[in-house]
Amino acid sequence: MNVKSSTAAALQHHPRGIAVLGSTGSIGTNTLNVMAHLATQGQPFEVIGLAAASNWQKLAQQALEFKPKVAVLSQPAAATDLSELKKALAHTDIQVLTGDAAVAELARRDDVSVVAASVVGAAGLAPVLAAAEAGKWIALANKEALVVAGCLVMPLAEKYGATILPVDSEHSAIFQSLRSGESREIDRIILTASGGPFRSWPAEKMQTATVDEALNHPNWRMGPKITIDSATLMNKALEIVEAHWLFNLPAESIDVLVHPQSIIHSMIEFVDGSIIAQLGTPDMRTAIQYALTHPQRHQGCSSRLDWTKIKEMTFEQPDGRFPALDIGYEVIRRGGTSGAVANAANETANALFRDGKIKFGKIIEITSSILKKHLANGFVARPQLADLLAADAWARAEAAL
Ligand code: NDP
Ligand code: MG
Repeated sequence: MNVKSSTAAALQHHPRGIAVLGSTGSIGTNTLNVMAHLATQGQPFEVIGLAAASNWQKLAQQALEFKPKVAVLSQPAAATDLSELKKALAHTDIQVLTGDAAVAELARRDDVSVVAASVVGAAGLAPVLAAAEAGKWIALANKEALVVAGCLVMPLAEKYGATILPVDSEHSAIFQSLRSGESREIDRIILTASGGPFRSWPAEKMQTATVDEALNHPNWRMGPKITIDSATLMNKALEIVEAHWLFNLPAESIDVLVHPQSIIHSMIEFVDGSIIAQLGTPDMRTAIQYALTHPQRHQGCSSRLDWTKIKEMTFEQPDGRFPALDIGYEVIRRGGTSGAVANAANETANALFRDGKIKFGKIIEITSSILKKHLANGFVARPQLADLLAADAWARAEAAL
């Protein structure tokens, strides 16, 4: 993974213009938090735009604080929400826009050099494609964009000189560890996983776990969709695919190791047997900040590891209670439309579970069976965007049955 010198040079201008997509979410809020912190470190960003789906109150509050040029509410839930947002920002110069196309437009603007891609789900794909095509510096949290369409995003980024910097903590750890060696010297990468709230539950009990139990992640505070993905370990499956695209690695070179303390965020085993890891407290602001300031490091705002309080670091192999991992490896091996289908089926089943419509154990069962059905009939090996969107729509309809 190369950081293009052209983009890096563009980033020497201060303040750098940034668009935060999904600003009202867990990563978006932390990103704004990091920017406020970086301003105190002589590393100011100019917030050009903020985008959210429907949370107009939080968007208004963030817009009043960060004074962007544009605030996008892409999918207002009620007819009055957009006018409420406009009313809240009426005394400012902030332009209020709506619709998914406005989010992609924001990612493309000339005065935006950095795009924080922190929308959740496949909804984040269009702005990531727009940012890649416009040659932006992309701080990528939205792993689903790569799972669905890594085969399009990565070549576009290469062609137009865009730089993709991982925000996902495991991938940030790999990216940082890679500064100790060359990509061709990697033997394997080891993605660590906390194991989620059900790490030590018997398989049978897990089948009927409640939404509250599944949302009770032991180490990380995150948005609801990824928290459920962490409980099924589908998050790790998505991360396996994300690592495949970011670091150009085959399935055989990507391992998963359960590490309940979440101190080691991931590691690389190089061909000579040396293992380089990145460690820290479980706070996404470290990875977000590095994605914004690489190759430089600045004073961070996360709490530090206190070695005197760490009693142990333990490791376990993931076992058969978490079949989601197989989906990740299958998606890498098959490629094509398989990622779009697995992701869409999981997004739908994940939401059905959170809405109380299906049992926990059904999420991965549904996702696996829809992927299997697609691989038997309808799979496209070299997809265009239209094929990926059609596969996504088909899988959503199947999962909603
Ligand atoms: P949240 O659910 O907390 O936030 C999602 C954000 O996306 C919200 O701002 C939401 O707006 C916005 N959004 C949803 N759909 C659209 C749309 N169509 N257009 C514009 N904005 C939209 O999610 P997280 O912050 O937890 O996760 C974001 C991404 O980061 C995911 O891909 C996740 O996998 C990844 N990630 C998250 C981590 C974490 O610690 N949270 C760690 C590693 C990766 P609204 O509030 O209005 O609904
Ligand atoms: Mg992660």
